[in-house]
Amino acid sequence: MDFARLFNGTETASRGPDHLITLSQVAKVYASEAGEFVALRDVDLEIDTGEFVTVVGKSGSGKSTLLNMLSGIDHPTSGEVWVNGTAVHTLNENQMATWRGKSLGIVFQFFQLLPTLTVVENIMLPMDFAGYLPRRKRRERALELLALVALCDQADKLPSELSGGQQQRVAIARALANDPCILLADEPTGNLDSRTADYTFRLFERLVEDGKTILMVTHDRDLARRGTRTIRLADGAIVDGAVRASREDGNVVGLPQMEREVSYVGA
Ligand code: ADP
Ligand code: MG
Repeated sequence: MDFARLFNGTETASRGPDHLITLSQVAKVYASEAGEFVALRDVDLEIDTGEFVTVVGKSGSGKSTLLNMLSGIDHPTSGEVWVNGTAVHTLNENQMATWRGKSLGIVFQFFQLLPTLTVVENIMLPMDFAGYLPRRKRRERALELLALVALCDQADKLPSELSGGQQQRVAIARALANDPCILLADEPTGNLDSRTADYTFRLFERLVEDGKTILMVTHDRDLARRGTRTIRLADGAIVDGAVRASREDGNVVGLPQMEREVSYVGA
């Protein structure tokens, strides 16, 4: 049974897409005082499960806008965005928030941890919002995820007591809280030194081996090359990498799967 479909509170138009992610003729136009600004144009893109896609392009080329189309943080001016069977471009704000919370993990450049919550509480927060896992199991899962990012001993500290690299690992654990199949990361290593960036990247590689699909924006050419595919944006258009070159299947092992103690009425 398709988990995304199950938890999609509202029946939205759906079809059996051939790809995990499909963007079809997506455009994003911002209105400004100087006139219209085209941030994305004619974007056609297909991404399959298990890909580790790196997204590159100059500052202002539309990388963040592209990720925001996928997460529904921003809405396309025209075109269609399909993610795991859901027509994201048709969701309203409420549907979007519910859908996003269960379908995607998002990692930012500046971590965005809540400073007054402990590490483990930060990781539990998306579980609290989603409410799938019984309350008594949330801390246990958060600790499992902390083990995955090798930070078990930091559980009850505040984010400010951790280094930047450690905070980003907490943010990755938080992104995995509801066991999403897709991770979006917008310059996740942009604020890390190269050694810590490499560690973070290897963590992403492991998650891909465990079956996750990742899109990562980066300015680091060496890291970009290590993805399974690189998409290059210029002036809002994909100029390279819109189509997958070859198929490489990862092994699906190891990642703690979320226990879902949810009863489905009529499902
Ligand atoms: P990148 O992440 O590649 O640096 P962005 O996707 O953030 O680029 O932005 C692409 C372009 O769209 C930039 O020129 C930016 O100024 C413009 N843009 C982004 N968000 C807005 C907005 N809310 N209003 C107007 N213009 C925007
Ligand atoms: Mg950006």
